[in-house]
Amino acid sequence: MSLWRYADSIPVSFEVAARVSMGEGWTPVVPAGPDLPGVMIKLEYATPTLSFKDRGAVVLIASALERGATQVIADSSGNAGAAIAAYASRAGIGCRVFVPERTSARKQAQIAAYGAAVESVPGDRSAAAAAAQAAVERTGAVYASHVFDPVFLEGTKTFALELHDQLDELPGAVVLPVGNGTLLLGAAIGFGELQAAGRIDAAPALIGLQAERCAPLVPGAPAVDPSATAAEGIAIPAPPRAAEIREAVERTGGCLVAVPEEAILPAQRDLARRGMFVEPTAALTWAGLLLARERLEVDAAVGDWDRARALVAGRVAVPACGAGLKSI
Ligand SMILES: *Cc1c(COP(=O)(O)O)cnc(C)c1O
Repeated sequence: MSLWRYADSIPVSFEVAARVSMGEGWTPVVPAGPDLPGVMIKLEYATPTLSFKDRGAVVLIASALERGATQVIADSSGNAGAAIAAYASRAGIGCRVFVPERTSARKQAQIAAYGAAVESVPGDRSAAAAAAQAAVERTGAVYASHVFDPVFLEGTKTFALELHDQLDELPGAVVLPVGNGTLLLGAAIGFGELQAAGRIDAAPALIGLQAERCAPLVPGAPAVDPSATAAEGIAIPAPPRAAEIREAVERTGGCLVAVPEEAILPAQRDLARRGMFVEPTAALTWAGLLLARERLEVDAAVGDWDRARALVAGRVAVPACGAGLKSI
């Protein structure tokens, strides 16, 4: 079983996709534990390159292959780059990935291991994107952008379709990280499709989490400082799809909240004690759930935490997005 169970709703040729697929998707959903009733964790690191980005990358690269690409350029804070590099190599497509220079060494090594050229760019995530776009203009390579190419979201939407098929009943809320919002926007598309097909009455409320030190979408957050958070994977100072993210959250009755930095490490430990070892960025998502369930001695005040607490009181799903070994 893989995300290709939903091939009919993914706008690429299944024949082409089958050439690059590595069986990504259909990740396990497990209960958090008896102390957190109603909380389900979807193991999004249980994938070929160890993050949920494989969902979008396989579709993005299959689509590039369909369009006859021989060279792609991507920019990434790490995990999207690793996923795109892996699938590009498998497709026989050359790949260059622009990353911010502070991207963890392990993520850079992973990207290089797949055979991609890693271009380390001084500055934040926006500087890496600008360098990639300049290289696209110079070389004529295809821009394999997980942020701008909407086909990436056609892959990440399967997160929602799977949750619907894996659980007897969808939870009332889903807690999701928000950097560029590729998982949140994909989930919104997936739940929207289920609703349009009359298979669910309403989408779960989407609760979007940002790091308090880099929370451009959360009103009242301190000045954005992407280099100051351990959650490197969501340290996006100016997400290009900000308006769409806000709209998706509002449409589902969800909210956007900022997670304090000091909640990340205790959450990483907590999740590891439940058997799941994730990187700090993924731990931030778990921290959001623990804070909303009032299970951490950390003061979370920036953003609509009252709403978040009310929404997670019932059944709720949380992804564990990236493996811990990526960043130790
Ligand atoms: C990419 C990523 C995120 C955030 O995804 P966005 O699309 O930037 O919102 C969160 N956690 C991990 C581990 C990631 O790799």
